[in-house]
Amino acid sequence: MTILDLFRLDGQTAIVTGASRGLGAAMAVALAEAGADLVLAARGSLSETVAAVEAAGRRAVTVECDLADRACTSRIMEAAPDASILVNNAGIIRRADLLQYSDEDWDTVIEVNLRSVFALSRAFAKSVVDRKGTGRIINIASMLSYQGGIRVVAYTAAKSGILGLTRAMANELAPFGINVNAIAPGYMVTDNTAALRKDEQRNRDILARIPAGRWGTPPDLAGAVVFLASRASDYVHATTVPVDGGWLSR
Ligand code: NAP
Repeated sequence: MTILDLFRLDGQTAIVTGASRGLGAAMAVALAEAGADLVLAARGSLSETVAAVEAAGRRAVTVECDLADRACTSRIMEAAPDASILVNNAGIIRRADLLQYSDEDWDTVIEVNLRSVFALSRAFAKSVVDRKGTGRIINIASMLSYQGGIRVVAYTAAKSGILGLTRAMANELAPFGINVNAIAPGYMVTDNTAALRKDEQRNRDILARIPAGRWGTPPDLAGAVVFLASRASDYVHATTVPVDGGWLSR
């Protein structure tokens, strides 16, 4: 066996939430290229991601459901009884000034970006433990896991919570053979950041702070997600890997 074999995911099934577009779609394709079959979840159509997974020679099952709905977790697990990899990627952002920030926006963002991550991880971990298997949970954090941000108070609270949740789950699940880690993407070109990129001043300010000199793109996460999903990261627990073009070091 060579080092590259440790990155292979042949025979494994990976769940990716929020896989209809953006970072989730790209990570699903990366996992398929490494050999995994996929269970893809989102509210909207997943057909483009299914086509890309199949083009990589793997199978994809879809679950169309809203992670704000608490029944979504069991629907995903029913579709993925043998999954050994879970990527908690689905996320939303609601922007408003703090003084006007509504309870409804707060509740929805926390529900999707934090509570559903806990609930799906718990269900996935139970399934892995019951099967006496091994597993990988990869949470998607953010630069706002480290910084306060502007006009996104619920998002910052949720993504800061993801760091703690990752550590807390890792501590309890490592003894069962489940590695829990996170990836913190920097500023990436997806629908999530469309408003920032449309604002010329914000776009210029953000770019000026990125040492790599460009926004990230969804395929930039491919290496990190395959690493954390694979045996190449067997002794990596409870950490968050920034994929940020150097943003955090400025
Ligand atoms: P995106 O392009 O807006 O995609 C979000 C994905 O999540 C879509 O597939 C969406 O599908 C799904 N989703 C949203 N709400 C959902 C719900 N209630 N139930 C089920 N699925 C839901 O955003 P993205 O940039 O790829 O973001 C992916 C993750 O990365 C998020 O957690 C985000 O916070 C995080 N992130 C993004 C950036 C960035 O710069 N883009 C940076 C750091 C972290 P449907 O709309 O079809 O449901």
